[in-house]
Amino acid sequence: MTSLWLERSETTQTDDFVPDALYDVVIVGAGLTGLVTGLLFVRAGMRVAILEARRVGSAATGNTTGKLSLLQGKHLSGILRHTTVKTARAYVDGNREGMEWLLRYCLQHGVAVQRRDAFSYASTPAGVDRVEEEFRAGRSLGLDVTRNYALDVPFPSFGAVRLADQAQFDPLDVLDALARDFRSHGGQLIEETRVRSVRPSQPTRVSSDRGAVFGDKVILATGTPFLDRGLYFAKQQALRSYALAFRVPRDTPDGMFLSVDEPSRSVRTAPIDGEDRVLVGGNGHPVGRAESPLALIADLTAWTERYFPGAERTNSWSAQDYRTASGIPFVGWMPRARKDVYFASGYDKWGMTNAVACSLTLASDILGGNLPWSQKLHRRVTTPADAGTFIGANAAVGVAAVRGYLGAWSRAKSTEPPADGRGVVSHHGILPVGVSTVAGDTCTVSAVCPHLAGVLTWNDAELSWDCPLHGSRFAASGELIEGPAKGDLRRIARSVKR
Ligand SMILES: Cc1cc2nc3c(=O)[nH]c(=O)nc-3n(C[C@H](O)[C@H](O)[C@H](O)COP(=O)(O)OP(=O)(O)OC[C@H]3O[C@@H](n4cnc5c(N)ncnc54)[C@H](O)[C@@H]3O)c2cc1C
Repeated sequence: MTSLWLERSETTQTDDFVPDALYDVVIVGAGLTGLVTGLLFVRAGMRVAILEARRVGSAATGNTTGKLSLLQGKHLSGILRHTTVKTARAYVDGNREGMEWLLRYCLQHGVAVQRRDAFSYASTPAGVDRVEEEFRAGRSLGLDVTRNYALDVPFPSFGAVRLADQAQFDPLDVLDALARDFRSHGGQLIEETRVRSVRPSQPTRVSSDRGAVFGDKVILATGTPFLDRGLYFAKQQALRSYALAFRVPRDTPDGMFLSVDEPSRSVRTAPIDGEDRVLVGGNGHPVGRAESPLALIADLTAWTERYFPGAERTNSWSAQDYRTASGIPFVGWMPRARKDVYFASGYDKWGMTNAVACSLTLASDILGGNLPWSQKLHRRVTTPADAGTFIGANAAVGVAAVRGYLGAWSRAKSTEPPADGRGVVSHHGILPVGVSTVAGDTCTVSAVCPHLAGVLTWNDAELSWDCPLHGSRFAASGELIEGPAKGDLRRIARSVKR
């Protein structure tokens, strides 16, 4: 399950962890948000460290489909359902500024970018109205969108809205350039350092697995913030989706396509070693709530083989991103942290533009600046439509919580270890436990998420334990991978087959 980008990327140069070091700014997370924000601060002459739990790009950014577009599927009409035209325009303005910043950056640093038209298309007749709605939304927000009644593509389509001259790239090329640039300005980029707690004080203490460092300002660029201040984990949904790359024998479609109806399908090409691979994405769902992620990958593979005969799969991967009720990211200071701790989250799979917009917002908030669109987005209020979405999402979380416990208690503990690649939740007394076997290694862990006690489910594609409540994920042996949890799973037993 390695993405096309991470498979090809050379290792980024990094720095040593210096215990008790003091920085002007400590950034947690080295995805696009962390690296762009870090670069903006080192360029302003500040001492900056970025602490990354795994490797640069390990989470969403290294597993994205890398489309840089202001036409974002059906996102704009979705935002307009929740907010005013003025706020939605501010969202588009911020995304435009993010996109222009990144395109300029790529040009100046020799990062390859392919300009492509973006299409939001109907994959069924029922999607035609959504396409029309997106067209009207785009127009009302000042985008030069046009209608396309017949797409030249091999898969079913019933018309589309098109925005010319958007872009696509290899996101690891971008991260590599940013990381080099950040370090050349004196920034410290420290990988394999998981931050476990942040204690606001003067300066703020950032405690990691390798010791503590201190920052006058701390920024959580961690996908979702792992501090529970502000309860942001409950104000957004963690959504996992899949992407696959294929060699195809025939011509590939010219454009970046995203269906407006379900199941979603995203199609673009990627130039790899002189040939164009086809990238197909989709089949998204709330984290931890799919019966079998492996079956969803098989379904996407079958879809591609059907419409691109002779397609040969080279990569498959999955990742998660976070959706707010309004579709507009959260960015700014965290409540009850004395304006010393900031965060950005909730890009809803449109982070290539939103991450940069949020980085510009953070730099402007902390260094002083005047970005009218960011001021407008800061001042937006929660609407009844936001509240409705929030209540619906949290009701689903409640249902998932109850279902998890009932499922665990109803399943009798087996004496046999699960087959390789399988994981099963049962119970020891009242405690839900998860038993899995991966490459002959059978592990028993507590199946209760240390974040808010959700019962975990087995992800048969990533071989991980995933929480259906707020999206935390853990390795089969219990180590935290991602999400709002701060700790690992309690390990109960382990046996390795010789
Ligand atoms: C399948 C998929 C396809 C997508 N396609 C597109 C697309 O085509 N176009 C688009 O615009 N957007 C797309 N997105 C969205 C985009 O990829 C994300 O919004 C964006 O990459 C998020 O960047 P980030 O830096 O905020 O988060 P991430 O890239 O997730 O980075 C967060 C980093 O923080 C680290 N971290 C977390 N917790 C800690 C901790 N406690 N201590 C230290 N480090 C920590 C993580 O390891 C990670 O490296 C897609 C998303 C998915 C899931």
